[in-house]
Amino acid sequence: MEKTFLIKPMLDEIYPVIDYGKGVYLFDRNGKKYLDAASGAVTANIGHGVAEIVEAMMEQAKKVSFVYRSQFTSEAAEKLAAKIAEWTPGELNWCFFVNSGSEATETAMKMAIQHWQERGNQTKTKILSRWVSYHGITMGALSMSGHPSRRARFIPLLEDFPAINPPYCYRCPYNLEAPSCNYLCAKELETAIKRIGPDQIAAFIAEPVIGAAGGAISPPKDYFKQIKMICEEYDILFIADEVMTGFGRTGTMLACEQWGVVPDIVALGKGMGAGYAPIAAAVASEKVMEPILAGSKSVMSGHTLSANPQSCAVSLAVLEYLEKNDIMKEVDNKGVYLKYQLEKLKPQFNFIGDIRGKGLLLGIEFVADPITKQPFPRKLSVTQKIIEHAKDKGLLIYPAGSGIDGVNGDAVIISPPLTITKREIEELVFLLKGTFTVFSDEIN
Ligand code: PLP
Repeated sequence: MEKTFLIKPMLDEIYPVIDYGKGVYLFDRNGKKYLDAASGAVTANIGHGVAEIVEAMMEQAKKVSFVYRSQFTSEAAEKLAAKIAEWTPGELNWCFFVNSGSEATETAMKMAIQHWQERGNQTKTKILSRWVSYHGITMGALSMSGHPSRRARFIPLLEDFPAINPPYCYRCPYNLEAPSCNYLCAKELETAIKRIGPDQIAAFIAEPVIGAAGGAISPPKDYFKQIKMICEEYDILFIADEVMTGFGRTGTMLACEQWGVVPDIVALGKGMGAGYAPIAAAVASEKVMEPILAGSKSVMSGHTLSANPQSCAVSLAVLEYLEKNDIMKEVDNKGVYLKYQLEKLKPQFNFIGDIRGKGLLLGIEFVADPITKQPFPRKLSVTQKIIEHAKDKGLLIYPAGSGIDGVNGDAVIISPPLTITKREIEELVFLLKGTFTVFSDEIN
């Protein structure tokens, strides 16, 4: 094994050294070109090497990169908060900046608990979530995540938060189909609330489209309407984890907008800095903030680098770039075209079980048998093999957990930068077809 001086996720793997990026492409030091159909980790939403962002970064650095959030605010932070308030639906007006998606969901959790405390309710401290979900790697975020393999080592340290089934229609636990299923998976929320007691629960958290844990599982049409209704009926806050789906990934600023639902708190990240700076946010509604503003007056959370002007200026430049180039408007069309191209691969490769997702957040689930939906044996490491064959061909796709428990299944996410062109979509599908051909030869 060649030695490097960097701790990497897989110690027996030597990663290529990346030299530079341009648009949807990355180039390594040996001159190999990769089509980044994953946007890294669903992050590089405007592609790589955008000159305007680099300029904004330099402009801010010339003024000031850091001020401490408890001493100062900055023009960049104020403008960014105003833009997010303007872009989000309803009264999601209060932005708390952090540096990663995990910090955003942790902060959202704390805001929810603090909201109830300031209203004099000390027992509403549990956060309900779903199996096959991922809300981050820090302990609070992991406690809310139904991602068994990421939780396993730390279970003794995690909060035992309750979880319900996800709206995983391809593997419906009730063996039913929407809408005639009557949204039984959403109704599980009501059952869980009644069992635990609404006076114990601060909030319910969910990803609008399940990402890393499920491979772009998009819910049936009225699922979130039902969820929001149940939350309102039992006085439970609804936190939408839009870390992966926010900022146009599914074609609207928030994915929740696709179903006409306004959350009480939103966690944002990834596309917010689009990979140009580490920045994320928990955004709370007026309703959530009211008792806090009338009470202790400050959210009990924060990090040294929260709202640093440097990251805020970069994020603002990313949002202005999205706006100036009308990028979100095209996402739906591009997603439909990409999905259509992916569907054409289905009859050619019988290990493609399901193609799903929304906008440019698409997923493919692989199965050993497309009729019975039997997953591949774990020892075959199918997802990993497909990711590696793709990388060999110069295509980057994102591994996802899958299967009814989020572990015993194989799936990948296809989530190119939102700026991808029609020609690049065709190139992506061509490379994917080549990848699947190699895998097909390997297993047959
Ligand atoms: N929430 C969701 C939905 C995510 O997909 C992720 C990361 O993949 C996170 C939270 C955690 O974000 P981060 O890795 O920036 O901490």
